[in-house]
Amino acid sequence: MAVGSSREAIVVGAGIVGAACAFALARAGWRVQVLEADAVGAGTTAAAMGHLVVMDDSAAQLALCAWSLELWREWLPHLPAGCEVDACGTLWLAADDDELHHVRTKAQTYARVGLAAEVLDAQALRAAEPHLRPDLAGALRVPGDQVLYPPAAARGLLSLAERHGARVLEGCAVRTLDADGVRLKAGRLDADVLVNATGCGAPALTPGLPIVPRRGHLAISDRHPGLVRHQLVELGYLKSAHATDAASVAFNLQPRATGQVLIGSSREFVGFDTRPNPALRARMLQRALDFVPALAHVSVLRTWLGYRPATPDKLPLIGRWPALPRLWIAAGHEGLGITTALASGQLLVDLIDGRTPPIDPLPYRPERAFESHAHA
Ligand SMILES: Cc1cc2nc3c(=O)[nH]c(=O)nc-3n(C[C@H](O)[C@H](O)[C@H](O)COP(=O)(O)OP(=O)(O)OC[C@H]3O[C@@H](n4cnc5c(N)ncnc54)[C@H](O)[C@@H]3O)c2cc1C
Repeated sequence: MAVGSSREAIVVGAGIVGAACAFALARAGWRVQVLEADAVGAGTTAAAMGHLVVMDDSAAQLALCAWSLELWREWLPHLPAGCEVDACGTLWLAADDDELHHVRTKAQTYARVGLAAEVLDAQALRAAEPHLRPDLAGALRVPGDQVLYPPAAARGLLSLAERHGARVLEGCAVRTLDADGVRLKAGRLDADVLVNATGCGAPALTPGLPIVPRRGHLAISDRHPGLVRHQLVELGYLKSAHATDAASVAFNLQPRATGQVLIGSSREFVGFDTRPNPALRARMLQRALDFVPALAHVSVLRTWLGYRPATPDKLPLIGRWPALPRLWIAAGHEGLGITTALASGQLLVDLIDGRTPPIDPLPYRPERAFESHAHA
């Protein structure tokens, strides 16, 4: 293997995942070029909520989230103030006793991997968030979760990568990826390692990747500082995230550093359709009002759409692409790519450099796409 800075890598895509890969590669001594068709963070990353949240749908998801949160805690102090980091924690809201039971199970799962989490009863919840509707049964408070502004974080990570010699080219679309490099509008670039980190765009460059856009609406309000103190998520969010066919909404509310609240979220499979779904958006806003009646006094300033890069098993694709030995994939992070970006980048580089990563890489291997098709 070549040593030091003679090893060249091209990362295609400068969303949060490409930025994290570039940062990890550059720190490991790779000479990195990042090629971005648009501007840094302009894809799904710009549309996201920026909730750094540990989710536990599966052991693999929990492991990637927990490791990534650890890395975020290490690197957040090095990112610029514009990243608007808020260590507000998450409250997972239980509507009734059944959900409170689920909250207790969730607390045990977190405890098993060493994550702090505290069960709040109805009274403690009211003290923590006075504007929530009063009949909720309780909540799980996860104090280690945080919030940031994703496109600024992508730019911040790339600035750190640039300190290690990385070059970032914006407005530079890759037309094709092949065995040795990339073809651009004018000319081509070759490298020892190529990383496809183009999110929803990944299958266009690497046919066969099982990634489809899962669309979401978000809304942002005018300024009401202190209206809520934590990122609030209903436990039913898990059902919405799990659903694979019908359009769904779940209450998800985020306090922003500006005093605004960011209101989410919806999920639907409608391809890259750019026309909003007013009925679904109205359901989403009504759901928020059901949980926080005080939102009746808040004005929604703007709503927008984003496209989550979804995979069939809800885990990202991180690893070598068997058909092209120089090609590595870091894509398909669905609704968790801001959270899991740093661990994804580090996992990828550990695999590229032949180091044993701190978590089992097998659940994320891209070739599982073929294995599941083979068994279908
Ligand atoms: C409504 C919504 C809310 C969300 N909230 C959260 C949240 O709170 N927490 C969380 O963890 N995650 C959240 N997510 C998920 C998160 O936003 C994504 O998982 C993440 O942004 C994916 O990042 P990415 O870098 O893979 O993709 P992208 O950000 O889309 O980056 C890919 C980049 O590749 C570029 N590109 C594409 N094709 C080419 C090409 N041929 N040549 C060069 N460049 C190319 C694109 O321009 C783009 O900039 C949310 C998503 C949505 C839609």
